[in-house]
Amino acid sequence: MSHLEEHAPGPNFIKQIILKDRDAGKHGGQIVTRFPPEPNGHLHIGHAKAICLNFSLAQEFGGRCHLRYDDTNPVAEDPAYVASIAEDIQWMGFSWGDHLYHASDYFEQLYDIACELIDKGLAYVDDLTPDQIREYRGTLTEPGKNSPYRDRSVQENIDLFRRMRAGEYKEGERVLRLKIDMASPNMNMRDPLIYRIRYATHQRTGDEWCIYPLYDYTHCLSDAFEGITHSLCTLEFEDHRPLYDWVVAKAETGHIPRQIEFARLNLDYTVTSKRKLLELVNEGMCSGWDDPRMPTIKGLRRRGYTPESIRLFCDRIGITKKDSTIDVGMLEAAIRDDLNAKAERRFAVLDPIKVTITNYPENEWEELDVPNHPQNEAMGTRKLPFGRVVYIDRDDFMMDPPKKFFRLGPDRDVRLRYAYVIHCDEVIQDAEGHVTELKCTYRKDTFGGVTPEGMKKVKGIIHWLPEQGSVPAEVRVYDRLFKEQNPVKDKAVDYKTHINPESLLVMKNARVEAGMAEAAPETRYQFERLGFFTSDWRDHSKSTPVFNRTVTLRDTWKK
Ligand code: ATP
Ligand code: MG
Repeated sequence: MSHLEEHAPGPNFIKQIILKDRDAGKHGGQIVTRFPPEPNGHLHIGHAKAICLNFSLAQEFGGRCHLRYDDTNPVAEDPAYVASIAEDIQWMGFSWGDHLYHASDYFEQLYDIACELIDKGLAYVDDLTPDQIREYRGTLTEPGKNSPYRDRSVQENIDLFRRMRAGEYKEGERVLRLKIDMASPNMNMRDPLIYRIRYATHQRTGDEWCIYPLYDYTHCLSDAFEGITHSLCTLEFEDHRPLYDWVVAKAETGHIPRQIEFARLNLDYTVTSKRKLLELVNEGMCSGWDDPRMPTIKGLRRRGYTPESIRLFCDRIGITKKDSTIDVGMLEAAIRDDLNAKAERRFAVLDPIKVTITNYPENEWEELDVPNHPQNEAMGTRKLPFGRVVYIDRDDFMMDPPKKFFRLGPDRDVRLRYAYVIHCDEVIQDAEGHVTELKCTYRKDTFGGVTPEGMKKVKGIIHWLPEQGSVPAEVRVYDRLFKEQNPVKDKAVDYKTHINPESLLVMKNARVEAGMAEAAPETRYQFERLGFFTSDWRDHSKSTPVFNRTVTLRDTWKK
């Protein structure tokens, strides 16, 4: 764990429960958690919260955390998602060891338990249509009514359930339900469906099954089979807990896991529902699941986020039982804090203007020693040549600068960082008035931050690149994907209308230090004065360096 990992004072409420259980010797003092993704999409920052919580607790208490794919819905699932999820968890720095499971591994066991529940008179096959089932279910204020099929004999139920499995019925023709209480104030307890017929090929079990168990039935029993002690899930499952406990109790597996709910992560300026993320990809609003603007782990990674920064963020937001929305600035602050210590500094120029230093001899240059990290000498120095032609960023020059602008303008001075003060003598423009070149002179006696006697102190210090010693590059300047703090606030407005049109600016004519072309993919730098940038793992190469802006140096969104 890095120097950055911090802990909020005192254990969170889940840790307190675990401490109590451990001290009471419950489950022999063992702690077993699990992370149960459904492989129907890629993981996002919300999942990261659940991953950090489950894996860290297991680590902290010397227990274990299982990775279990909750693969009970064959229609939406895909082996590509299965592989991607495993990759992302490992990238985040966590390991499930030998404890990789799939709900589909339990299909036979789950079927057997369903038969036992039928035997005990606790489950029945229902022939009502889906519409009728809904109608019979009642509402929050009215009790439901019993299905006319509720009192079938055990024998008939077993026979019908076997025939459901054998494929004798059409989808939707019959379901298996628990027999609990149609008048319960908790809708989840009104004879919930636990099996439905689906003629779909499952990514693991193929066509072996045409009945599939539902989440509420599968999840708690999978927890019980695996000896999970603390089953941590988000608040929307709070109302499902009585059902969780009911199924576990009636199934009598010999192990009783405990469900504990915590608040899910909501981030402002962000959507995290898998359905919406899929829509953004399918409708071409971004380039794919790993588009650096996506809040997926793959997107964050490609943007330049480190595993440490994501863990730090999850640690800082903590675990509570109250829903809230987190400032996305906190996520950005976490990567800034992490990279500020770790990333080497470099010069890059996003929109270059050529500067000819007319009093510097032609075909000559000098090698400057430039620190890789001004606050950390141990990170060493690199050589940067200085010669007659250099580039500066267009933002650092103004034809008619206002008073507070301390950078370059006609007949003004500016300091080139780690080098000299230059003076702008002449501005060359094309027919449209676009500045194409600056003719400047440098003062040799200003090297190394020196202000010679009699010279006015130069306030502006800018970054620059030498023509010899820099190479063309593409820099992708990313920003937040949504310009609205809560893109889904108004249900009547399509959240996609809130996409930030300036969320990606591609700087095709940028330049970077020559050595950066050799950088491995996912090398992270601070481009001095510009932000943190990361070489793109897909597109970066020696011949075409490509860098993604990970984050600005300061929070530019703060009001
Ligand atoms: P989505 O709402 O994005 O479709 P999901 O909850 O359906 O996600 P799962 O694959 O079922 O996705 O989630 C796996 C685990 O991650 C669950 O335990 C779930 O509670 C947790 N999880 C999902 N989203 C969040 C979130 N925003 N904050 C915290 N935990 C989350
Ligand atoms: Mg889910």
